[in-house]
Parts: sequence; structure tokens; C-alpha cells
Amino acid sequence: GSTLGVLGGGQLGRMWAHAAQRMGYNTAVLDPDAQSPAGLVSHHHIHTDYLDAAGLKQLAAVCQAVTTEFENVPADALAQLAATLPVSPAASAVAVAQDRAREKAHFVKCGVPVAPHAVIDTPEQLAAVNDNLLPGILKTSRMGYDGKGQLRVTTRDELNAGWAKLGKVPCVLEKMLPLASECSVIVARGRDGVMVNLPVQRNLHRDGILAVTEVFAGNVPDVLAQQAIEAAKAVAQELNYVGVLCVEFFVLADGALVVNEIAPRPHNSGHYSQDACDVSQFELQVRTMADLPLTQPRLHSPAFMLNLLGDLWFANTNAAQVEPAWQKVLALPGTHLHLYGKTEARVGRKMGHLNITAPTPEAARAAALQAAAILGIAPF
Ligand code: ATP
Ligand code: MG
Ligand code: MG
Repeated sequence: GSTLGVLGGGQLGRMWAHAAQRMGYNTAVLDPDAQSPAGLVSHHHIHTDYLDAAGLKQLAAVCQAVTTEFENVPADALAQLAATLPVSPAASAVAVAQDRAREKAHFVKCGVPVAPHAVIDTPEQLAAVNDNLLPGILKTSRMGYDGKGQLRVTTRDELNAGWAKLGKVPCVLEKMLPLASECSVIVARGRDGVMVNLPVQRNLHRDGILAVTEVFAGNVPDVLAQQAIEAAKAVAQELNYVGVLCVEFFVLADGALVVNEIAPRPHNSGHYSQDACDVSQFELQVRTMADLPLTQPRLHSPAFMLNLLGDLWFANTNAAQVEPAWQKVLALPGTHLHLYGKTEARVGRKMGHLNITAPTPEAARAAALQAAAILGIAPF
């Protein structure tokens, strides 16, 4: 059979590999970690640095096409691979997603609403920041995830101190917005320009990390859902994007929709699609890579997704890690356990997720709340 490759060996790569293997492909993973979740389940595992010429050459030699699962994989590595084989998404699109300033500029270009913000690369730009952006959130332009590389600043003094604390690296200051809720949309776009989308996901974050995703008809008002899907498609189209793209949104207290950021890959908020849709976000990624047809995914069950963070392994002890009570959770109908094969639990580390499907949103919520209570996840 033919082989598909991925740069990055985290859980997203692992779930992509499972989807690819189910469809008859072998998988190849390039990740510096010899024990990466995706590498452990793949036929080829190259553990060099992402920019290592020999590693990239080896990957290109065994693959028919390559994708990425890691947001911060150097865009240059994708560009190098693209010289010899199809790479999706393209380095140019990933480079936009890797830089908040470029990302914001792209949203403006697409005509989608963004948070009021300022780019801060220099002391002069810092001094010139308009007071109406405070209180705000100062975010490093590059390498942030799960709320890392962000500081909330209320006064000018805090802003100045915050920029120094972040190392005076390029940043974006965003006005703190009154959020009513958050949602996201996953689109997949083929090389031929065909685009499909998953239904709008409603997301609950805790401490800057996704905690719960809920998806069913009416999870967000219809008008808002349509706006979000249109905006997500415009963002993908304007990037000439090929692959799976997630667009995150804020819903403001007054009902307005604002684009937050994009991820050039499957996204944590799309994991429910594995068990609640007829095509998952990982299968969509495989299809875009292999030039297979894209069909509009259908949500066949209301779904809740609970993230399983390393914290849960220490719920009953603060020293040794203890496996959560899967026996009890899996006794609830419609629970689907996904664990990423990470042996060491750490606070805030994504260890797995639980998808809960049911015939009605109410039944799904009830089961999700029961599972949360068993695991020690706060109710939602
Ligand atoms: P991810 O892991 O999703 O990539 P990230 O580190 O890139 O996260 P953001 O998505 O920018 O971070 O922000 C994390 C969370 O912080 C958001 O989901 C939201 O809850 C909150 N947040 C971020 N920006 C704002 C804002 N301008 N106003 C209010 N809340 C915000
Ligand atoms: Mg982000
Ligand atoms: Mg985010």
C-alpha cells in the first residue's frame, strides 16, 4: 500500500494515523521524540529534528504526500518537502497561522471581524499603543498554545512590564472582550477547491485550555452558526488552503461574532467527530492529502467531548499518578474513550478525551455530567 506522512508525532498525528491506516495507508512520522504518540503506531518513525535534511529526505523517500499535525513545525520544513511531493497545508498557509500578527492581518483582508488589537514588535510600537486596548491580553506572536505565552494586562505599567516579562519578543495586544461563549468551525478544502465543514462546535475553556465541546442542532443560534461557517470558509478560501483548518471564534455579550485564531490542522474541538459524525476530521485530513473526494460530514448524534487532562491522574493523590476510573465511565452508554498513549501524566497535559454520544442533547449532557462527576471534572 502507499504511505502518507506527517510532521509531528503528537496525539493529533496519532489519530490521523489511525484514520489513514483504516483506509489502507501506511503512515510515516517525523518527530524528534522517539516515543511520540503517533510514532508509536506508525510504520516509519523518523526521529530527527524537523529541519534535519537527512530526516526530511528519508520522509520524502517513503511518502506519497505529507501533512502536519503540529502548529509550530517550521514552515521551512514543509517548504523543503514541497519540492519533491504534495504537502498540505502549504508552508505559506502554515506560516500565517504561526504568527498572530500575520493571522490578524489575514482576517482583516478576508473582511471577517477581529478583536481590536495592536502589533508590538518594538519599544516605539509599545509606547504608541492606544489606551482603549486596555484592559487587554498580551500574546506572543509565535509559539503560544493552551494560553501559554499570554498575560492579562490592565494598566500601561502592567503592559510595559508584561512585554518585558515575555522577553520583548514580537507580540499582539488584544482588547479584552466580554465573551458570552466560544465556538469553532472545522473546514476541509481539497486541492480542487471543494470545501466541506463540520457543524459549529461550542467550546468551554478553563485556564486557557479547552475543557468541553458540545455539538448538536441549536448549540449556538442558527444565524451565528451560518456566520461562523461563512467566515471560516472565507478564511480558508483566501489562503488557498488545502487540508483541514480550524477557525476559533468568540461570541460577544451583544451577540457579535469575532474571529480569534486559526489552527492549520485538525483541532481538539473537532475530536467529537470521531464518534458523532459519519466522517471525522482526521479522515477529512487523509482525504485531502490523498486527493479523495470530500463529502459534507453529517452529525448523526448529539455529542459532548470532555478533555482528559493529566490533572485527573492525580485527583485522589498528589504524589503517584493513578489511572482514572475508566470502568465506571465506560459503564455509561455512549461513552467513547480515546487515550493518546502518553505514559507520564502531568497537570495540564492532554492525555486523552472522552466523546459522549446520545439520541438527544439532553441525554448526552446528562451522561457527560455523570462522567465528569466520576472523573473529578467540574460540572459545566
Ligand atoms: P490554543 O490552545 O487554542 O491555540 P492559545 O494559547 O492560542 O490557545 P487563545 O485562543 O488566543 O490562546 O486564547 C485562549 C483563551 O483565552 C481563549 O479561548 C479565550 O477563552 C481567552 N481569550 C483570548 N483572547 C481573548 C480576548 N481578546 N478577550 C477575552 N478572552 C480572550
Ligand atoms: Mg492558538
Ligand atoms: Mg485558541
